[in-house]
Amino acid sequence: MRLLIVSNRLPIVTVEEQGQLQFRESAGGLVSGISAYLDSLRGSSFRGAAAPAGVPGASAPARSRWIGWPGVTVEDPAKQARVTEALAGFDAHPVFLSDRSMDKFYHGFCNKTIWPLFHYFPSYVVCEESLYAHYRCVNRIFCEAVARLVQPDDVVWIHDYHLMLLPQLLRQQKPEATIGFFLHIPFPSFEIFRLLPQTWRAEILEGLLGADLIGFHTYDYAQHFLRSVLRVLGHEHTMGKILLPNHLVQVDTFPMGVDFQKFQAAARRVPGPQDLSGETFKDFKVVLSVDRLDYTKGILNRLQGYELFLERNPQWQKKVVLVLVVVPSRIGVEQYQEIKRQIDAFVGQINGKFGSVGWTPVLYQYRYLPFEPLVSLYASSHVALVTPLRDGMNLVAKEYLASRTDRTGVLIVSEMTGASKELGEAISINPNNVGEIAAALETALVMPEAEQIRRNEIMQDRLQRYDVIRWAQDFLGRLQEVKTEQKRLRARLLRREARRQLLEQFRQAPHSTIFLDYDGTLISFVDDPKAAQPPENLLLLLRTLSQGANTEVVLISGRDKDTMEGWFADLDLSLVAEHGAWIKVKGQPWRLAKPLDNTWKSALLPILQTYADRLPGAFVEEKEYSIAWHYRRADPELASTRVKELVDDLVNFTANIDVQVQQGDKVVEVRCGGIHKGAAALSFLAKEASDFLLAIGDDWTDEDLFRVLPDSAWSIRVGHRHSCAKFNVRSHTEVLELLREISAAQPQECSR
Ligand code: UDP
Repeated sequence: MRLLIVSNRLPIVTVEEQGQLQFRESAGGLVSGISAYLDSLRGSSFRGAAAPAGVPGASAPARSRWIGWPGVTVEDPAKQARVTEALAGFDAHPVFLSDRSMDKFYHGFCNKTIWPLFHYFPSYVVCEESLYAHYRCVNRIFCEAVARLVQPDDVVWIHDYHLMLLPQLLRQQKPEATIGFFLHIPFPSFEIFRLLPQTWRAEILEGLLGADLIGFHTYDYAQHFLRSVLRVLGHEHTMGKILLPNHLVQVDTFPMGVDFQKFQAAARRVPGPQDLSGETFKDFKVVLSVDRLDYTKGILNRLQGYELFLERNPQWQKKVVLVLVVVPSRIGVEQYQEIKRQIDAFVGQINGKFGSVGWTPVLYQYRYLPFEPLVSLYASSHVALVTPLRDGMNLVAKEYLASRTDRTGVLIVSEMTGASKELGEAISINPNNVGEIAAALETALVMPEAEQIRRNEIMQDRLQRYDVIRWAQDFLGRLQEVKTEQKRLRARLLRREARRQLLEQFRQAPHSTIFLDYDGTLISFVDDPKAAQPPENLLLLLRTLSQGANTEVVLISGRDKDTMEGWFADLDLSLVAEHGAWIKVKGQPWRLAKPLDNTWKSALLPILQTYADRLPGAFVEEKEYSIAWHYRRADPELASTRVKELVDDLVNFTANIDVQVQQGDKVVEVRCGGIHKGAAALSFLAKEASDFLLAIGDDWTDEDLFRVLPDSAWSIRVGHRHSCAKFNVRSHTEVLELLREISAAQPQECSR
């Protein structure tokens, strides 16, 4: 088993210097996190916490390969081959992209559309069709590259917002592949996500749902995603599990950690407190701020908070410095240049306003710090000030804590970061309120050491237990669990061999009975039940099937008898309407299954009508001996609340009446007691013994039918659902295929 890691960029950057290709390691949270995990696999034992039960060990990948953009544009095929060969030595595989693609895809759709939208900066969002077209195109290029490399046992782990269409594209080419996806940025609330044009948002969600497992940093992001899936695509979930017709997808939370031991070890190694030019900080309390240059990071809010703190607390002047490290990022993008200008000006303003000989209130560095100098800063800073306006996780906050070997230090962290969900003992602030930032600095700088240690112990223990290695183990372990569950579900699929046996038994049987549900089984659901008329080809199929000598076909539906009569009267079929209240044996008139009372309807109709009025899109369908309350067209979220209330009300109201309340697919039904599809089917079976019995349905109401069938019967439920039926098929089209095969296998009556 190999692990194929797919991300926008490779961990090895290819550079061309004086005509020579050079390869350098690149840095970043994702690279160092995954590298720590891969190192842990190469070592004889896991560092960090022990692997949880059922995770890696036996199932850990033996090898890995990283697939991504190599960091350089190479157009010459011969040179591309050389780069590919050289990168293979680093277990990396390049995906070459043209300058134009990179511009429209990476700088364009990724960073001008998705990045600002997912970080709640809708006013920065650029919606351009051509950018999205390149996003699609680059995802396809990645798909070709991965599809060429992937082998049956491999695990593909796709990372981040650049490649959200890739899981589905890959699934189409490799239906059996094991695919995990992790989003490293926030997934926004539906109200923000829906700002994307309709086709884009649906494609992005469908793209992600191609994965077997979709991971997010926090519970909120996972919930936002699930809600968008419900609102945009209509798929419900149970505990994060979404059952698609062909595929089970799990959505779950995996907060990314840091390589705790590495930071601890480095912090012990690095020289004591130093400023950036090697001077000691001993005369000052150090407040540290480290970020990539990004409007999401709240760097200006931080400076405003610090300025206010200095104004309110003159006693701290000349006793504190703010070390402000800003790492250049996305150079050339307008908003980034603007924010840089504002930071430069603000730093100048604070230093000009408060500074004096021997004291610079803000020590500002606009550059990238390598690992050791960064850890040295973490280790020597009394306070870490982390104030993003929105951040998927924020590793800096965790790295700061991991570097505090004596457990002192105070973390101030924005509640808008994913990290804040795990770091409850830090001082939490809302970055939009500079007064809170200033007050947090006041608290942090006078916090007694014992209190600092008490708080940090709790947070460090957590960070140590759930470090980045454990994060990766956890994700990949869960991915394997999902695959196992899918296999279990698939084992129930009606496969070729079972199908062959079914047809064989049918051929041999002197007399056969076939029970077929209608909606969802022979035809797909539509918003308006009246619009689900049987098309000509379906009528033809049913006609041929029912013309077979010795075959009795029974259409067994929840629909009213007039509709059934109108649609199927010309066919030589038996019909069951209203879930069994009405029965029409072929060639005979309709009859009631048993004497029934429907006086209860007048009492219940107003209740159902009131609930329909309270849920736009819901409506009441009155039948002779039942009432159906349909909500397929209603808002799915409001519907789920209203349905619970309605069912609760109905169950209470009908406690002393002989009726039953049942939930079907987007419908609540009230009908006479003792009436169900199982009872109706038994009345046919009592009439004449069948040597071959087949029942196909898609709904909870069909479970009553499956339950009463003898062991020898064939029962099939449409869709991947848990069921009393022996088999599942994926969709109604598979049902039609099967019926065509049955029809072809039967002896025909020649007289018709
Ligand atoms: N980092 C670094 N050098 C720097 C500044 C940051 O190596 O000068 C690293 C830091 O150690 C962390 C990552 O960059 O691992 C930043 O991750 P974070 O989640 O805080 O923010 P992101 O940049 O991913 O939005």
